[in-house]
Amino acid sequence: MKILHTVAELRQWSREKRNAGGNLIGLVPTMGALHAGHASLIRAARAACSQVAVSIFVNPTQFGPHEDFAVYPRSFEVDCALAQAEGADVVFAPAVEELYPAGAATFVEVEGLTHRLDGASRPTHFRGVTTVVAKLLIASEADRAFFGQKDAAQVAVLRRMVADLRLPAEIVVCPIVREPDGLALSSRNLYLSPAERAQALTLSRAIRQVESLACSGERRSSALIASTHQIFAAVPEIRIDYIAVVDWTTLEPAEFAVPGVLFAVAAWVGPTRLIDNTILG
Ligand code: AMP
Repeated sequence: MKILHTVAELRQWSREKRNAGGNLIGLVPTMGALHAGHASLIRAARAACSQVAVSIFVNPTQFGPHEDFAVYPRSFEVDCALAQAEGADVVFAPAVEELYPAGAATFVEVEGLTHRLDGASRPTHFRGVTTVVAKLLIASEADRAFFGQKDAAQVAVLRRMVADLRLPAEIVVCPIVREPDGLALSSRNLYLSPAERAQALTLSRAIRQVESLACSGERRSSALIASTHQIFAAVPEIRIDYIAVVDWTTLEPAEFAVPGVLFAVAAWVGPTRLIDNTILG
C-alpha cells in the first residue's frame, strides 16, 4: 500500500491506473481514527472498485471555532495498518497546506439544505465538508466515493453537490455499523466516559423504537418524534440538538414517515455531540 501526501501524487496514481485500462477508482474519505465503520466503507470500495484510495485528513474547515479540531483523535500509523488490512491500495494523507494553500479563498457551498439538521447548530460545517470532498474528488478523479449513512445529512448535501457540479463520481452509501449494544460507531465515542457511554445508548434505543413503531403502522412524524422525546426525557443528562423526520433528498420536514424518509437524532452527551438515524422502510 502506498502512502501519498500531495495532490499531484494522488492524481498521477489515479491517471496511471486509469490509463492502464479497465480500472475503476474508489475513494473513501475519512478523518482518520479509523474504526469498523470506516473498515466497512473500505471493504465496500474494495468489492466495487479495482483501485481503492482512503484519504485521512482532519479537515479544519468543517469544525466550528469552539469545536474539537485541535483534540480530534489522530492515530495515523494504526489507521494505515487498518486501511492496508482492508485492502486499500493508497492512503492519501495531505498536510493542511496541501489542500488549503496559503491564501486559499475558494469554498464550495450548497445552499438551503446545509442549514437544516446538523447545519442548523453547525452553520459552517457542511461548507467545510463540501469544499474538502470536492477537492478530494477532483484530485483523485475517483469514479465512486463511499460514505456512511451514519452521516445521513452529509450524504444528502454531497449528492446535491455532485449533481450540481456534474462531477463524474457516483456517491455510494453504506449502512451504519454499530457496537453489539446498538451504539453507532463514531471516532467521537472515544471522548465518552463510562457513564456517558451508557447514556449514549439512548440514541440507538430511540432509533430502534421508531423503527418498530413505523413497522407497526405509525406513520405520523409527530407521533414518532413525541415517542423519542419520551425516551430522552428519562435521561436528563442528555441535551437534544434535533429529532427530525425529513425527506432524505431535501432535508425538509416530512409530515408522514413514508418509505425512504429519514428519521434522525443529534444530542449532546456531556460535551460530546452524537448523531444517529434510520431510513424508514
Ligand atoms: P469521519 O472519519 O467521521 O469523517 O467518517 C468518514 C466516513 O465514515 C463518513 O462517510 C462516515 O459517514 C463514515 N462512518 C462513520 N461512522 C460510521 C459508522 N458507524 N458506520 C458506517 N460508516 C460510518
